[in-house]
Amino acid sequence: MRIDLHTHSSASDGTEPAEVVVAQAARAGLDVVALTDHDTYAGWPAAQAAARELGVGFVPGVEVSCSHRGVSVHLLGYLVDPGFAPLVEELEKARQSRVSRVERMVDRMAADGIPVSMEAVRAQAGEDTTLGRPHIADALVAAGYVPSRDAAFTDVLRNGSPYYVSHYAPSPVRAVQLVRAAGGVPVMAHPFASSRGRTVDDDVIAAMAQAGLAGLEAEHRDHTDDQRDHARALAAQLGLFTTGASDYHGAGKPNRLGENTTSPEVLAEIERQATSGVEVVRP
Ligand code: AMP
Ligand code: ZN
Ligand code: FE
Ligand code: FE
Repeated sequence: MRIDLHTHSSASDGTEPAEVVVAQAARAGLDVVALTDHDTYAGWPAAQAAARELGVGFVPGVEVSCSHRGVSVHLLGYLVDPGFAPLVEELEKARQSRVSRVERMVDRMAADGIPVSMEAVRAQAGEDTTLGRPHIADALVAAGYVPSRDAAFTDVLRNGSPYYVSHYAPSPVRAVQLVRAAGGVPVMAHPFASSRGRTVDDDVIAAMAQAGLAGLEAEHRDHTDDQRDHARALAAQLGLFTTGASDYHGAGKPNRLGENTTSPEVLAEIERQATSGVEVVRP
């Protein structure tokens, strides 16, 4: 069984529609794929339909943007009830804040003569898309200012850039509580990926565990071997399971489907812990 529990579609900052992500998963020989778009469930229906048609297993999920004292934390939530209003409202609040944050970043960049506008960013995203820096990157690529998303992220879009603006996000402890209250299973994404920016200390993860965190994503390309080891050791200490996944973004990142995987035992544990009634599509 090959199981990849972290991917993005064009409902957020992946480059492919959700049904194409599932088709790519089938082509990559995966047995099960989860869709975990940033702050939205919008890709679920298309992914579920494609999974049934193609005979691929599918786990609905979401990657909740969180912030702990200015440090960005990503929380994967599997099998949450999409009708659970308190979580929907929190995601909506973050999505709204992301729009005004992108506007402010674009304003700052345009004021310095960088060829970008809100219209150009909007042209890179669908109507319901969770907007993010990758869409600004795509507008900069379209304008010929940078050759790739990655180049934009090492330059004007990096954390700490003068153009960087943060957005509203719940605390990781609150997000864990909301995912559990929605009947879902919370797993912290790439907890020690220091290459992406600052990361939280182990005591924050211990507080998340106290609040109901179920697992840590240990096997992720943004983790060094030492960071993977540390994630496994901390998970064992806190009584959490570990997962592995690609964090696939289509053409937006080099991450390939199935480059890291999760064991069938851990997937069974995720299904056991979920209380939402939301169903996994069987392979
Ligand atoms: P945001 O959530 O708007 O702050 O943007 C962060 C998102 O940008 C993350 O979800 C990443 O997937 C994506 N990202 C970060 N660094 C890069 C990079 N170097 N190339 C492409 N995408 C990136
Ligand atoms: Zn992303
Ligand atoms: Fe993430
Ligand atoms: Fe992700």
